[in-house]
Amino acid sequence: MTNRIYISSPDVGDLEEKYVMAAMRSGWIAPLGPDVDAFELELAACVGVKHAVALSSGTAALHLGLLGLGVGPGDVVLTATMTFAATANAIVYTGAAPSFIDCELETGNMDPTLLRQSLERLSGSGQKIGAIVPVDLLGKAANYTEICAIAAEYGVPVLVDAAESFGAKHRGRPAGSGGRASATSFNGNKIMTTSVGGMLLTDDAGLAAHTRYLAGQARQPVAHYEHVDIGYNYGMSNLLAGLGRAQFSRLDEMIRRRRAMRDRYRQLFLGVDGVEIFGGVDDHEDNCWLTAIVIDSARTGWSRSDLGAFLRADEIETRPLWKPMHLQPVFASAPALTNGNAERLFQTCLILPSGSALSQAEIAWVIGRLTTFLSRAS
Ligand SMILES: *Cc1c(COP(=O)(O)O)cnc(C)c1O
Repeated sequence: MTNRIYISSPDVGDLEEKYVMAAMRSGWIAPLGPDVDAFELELAACVGVKHAVALSSGTAALHLGLLGLGVGPGDVVLTATMTFAATANAIVYTGAAPSFIDCELETGNMDPTLLRQSLERLSGSGQKIGAIVPVDLLGKAANYTEICAIAAEYGVPVLVDAAESFGAKHRGRPAGSGGRASATSFNGNKIMTTSVGGMLLTDDAGLAAHTRYLAGQARQPVAHYEHVDIGYNYGMSNLLAGLGRAQFSRLDEMIRRRRAMRDRYRQLFLGVDGVEIFGGVDDHEDNCWLTAIVIDSARTGWSRSDLGAFLRADEIETRPLWKPMHLQPVFASAPALTNGNAERLFQTCLILPSGSALSQAEIAWVIGRLTTFLSRAS
């Protein structure tokens, strides 16, 4: 095998080429256009929300979603510590301060009990809690049912970071439909991609309109350029929306492939004492974006770095889970309510190649190298 094998590389081919060329030939090269409109309608219908606003990235969707909820300087925003830095960065862009909440051990998603504790502590402090931002880790939706109920008790709006979970569900409801709004991402490594891009999904017409307004440099509806607010250049290009529509038409197939890869790993590790598939046995509602294993090295006799180094020698990429935000130097002074779970998962999990673009030969190669590692290790 000569190709380097990545955790999750873009899965694009002839269909994507056709859509992007069609968008280009339509003459809508400048930002916005009919593919952006159609992409928004298709995704809103899929998720079951009234409004979708296509944006330049998932980070932009988080940023404008927070601004639309009225989050600003002096506010506190509660978010998951087990996430990618973009979630916390978007909070900081608004002038608010992130406060981190630890996770459930099984899913890595925000622990509702800790969320309640954090809200209880903060509610007497005089600080305004601007929003709660749960994150759907590796394509498993957070427990929206409990999180939204707790948030409602305290009157705090929820903005879901659904960057990793497009196509997943929570108790029958599509990811991206929870809370006041959700932000999803179409970055190159996500379940479907526009190379870079994102979307804000919401039932709130005012929030959608405000997001669209801010994303287009906050222009007033007059012929000359008139501005009463600070705006952003956060729109999605029509060419990229064409790519997104091709990807969206293949979403179910791409999820099926990722799930099939996870099933191969589950089979392989079934008889291996000390290794479990991260996220628990019940993943039927997940989009299976990335598959990670949890390694108990006291039982396996080998460590995460042993396996990572073995696969790296064959140009097979692996990675730990996100380094929790409360352990990041840049957020060292931010408050965090921890139970040790995020840190433990950071120490014990390894993400394996999970992309839908892997060929049958590449899959067989990865499974074969893992089988060799396990037979040598036992
Ligand atoms: C990818 C990701 C983002 C950022 O999305 P971009 O489109 O890359 O800006 C935000 N949050 C999480 C949890 C992500 O995985």
